[in-house]
Amino acid sequence: MLIVGGGPIGLMGSLLLSRLGVRSLVVDLRGRTSTHPRSRLLDAPSVELMREVGVEQQVIDTGLGPDWTKYNRWFDCLAGREICRVPTPSFHSVRTDRSSSMPVMTAQDYVEAILFDKAASDPNVDLRFDTTASGLTQDDAGVSCTIRDNRADRAIPVAAGFAIGADGLRSSTRAAIGTTLEADFMDVFFQDVIFEADFSQHTSDRQGGLLFIAHPMGAAVFQPLRLRGPGWRSGTSDADAADRRVSRSEACGLARVPCRLRRQPAEAPAHPVWGRSGVA
Ligand SMILES: Cc1cc2nc3c(=O)[nH]c(=O)nc-3n(C[C@H](O)[C@H](O)[C@H](O)COP(=O)(O)OP(=O)(O)OC[C@H]3O[C@@H](n4cnc5c(N)ncnc54)[C@H](O)[C@@H]3O)c2cc1C
Repeated sequence: MLIVGGGPIGLMGSLLLSRLGVRSLVVDLRGRTSTHPRSRLLDAPSVELMREVGVEQQVIDTGLGPDWTKYNRWFDCLAGREICRVPTPSFHSVRTDRSSSMPVMTAQDYVEAILFDKAASDPNVDLRFDTTASGLTQDDAGVSCTIRDNRADRAIPVAAGFAIGADGLRSSTRAAIGTTLEADFMDVFFQDVIFEADFSQHTSDRQGGLLFIAHPMGAAVFQPLRLRGPGWRSGTSDADAADRRVSRSEACGLARVPCRLRRQPAEAPAHPVWGRSGVA
């Protein structure tokens, strides 16, 4: 099996196939797994899949746990008045006739890294990052394409029985089989800033999975990324930033202003805009 794309779907696909004794070649043009927390919620069926491939506990251990996932909260600012809190019971009560797993609030970068390590140690999986697939064709014998090792700048022809297109939103595999994406794209843009800061004085007695804050640009949402430690994601909906990359000082502002921090966070790299067209 050729799997184009080593994101969560491609990596999980390779591990599930391996359980059936199917060997796969996974190629991804990125040099490493995602460094952006991206999707935060693993629902119960996804956690079941993690169990199936033997990484459930590892994934649970990266999760925020009940203190953080009991409520979502709304503030005028993180250091200020709490406006309301809304319980999130679906994190803690899944119908046992549907699943024996509970959802986990974690971060995609952790999950991808766990799946990557698992696939890398699986003898049925040949994992090649920094490698781009192109020119996918199929005939009665199977599929073929070219994979380019971007570090060595070397192209190799590859033939396989089947291919899985796990190559994301702008999938070239989808284009190769002549189908198009049918979806309504969101008509909003989010600007994410991932940073480190100690907010424990504001959050220790009012934790929440999503902490919404009034912001000059509209609502901002703060998301804790780690059970212990200072990792945060601050997301604002910012249509004006859709076509440009924000500067480092703007990124620090996004992280600082809503919670009225005087000092800037230790680390506040600007991250890409995520929205209607994926990463702009
Ligand atoms: C910045 C950002 C923030 C997000 N935040 C959220 C969120 O808060 N909540 C949420 O639910 N979802 C979020 N998402 C969406 C979520 O990340 C995706 O739904 C998820 O990653 C899809 O997984 P996937 O494996 O299908 O595709 P992807 O993770 O997109 O992986 C596809 C992989 O294919 C590789 N690839 C593409 N073409 C080729 C090729 N020709 N050759 C080799 N490799 C190729 C790419 O490098 C990529 O690694 C976010 C996405 C982004 C980009």
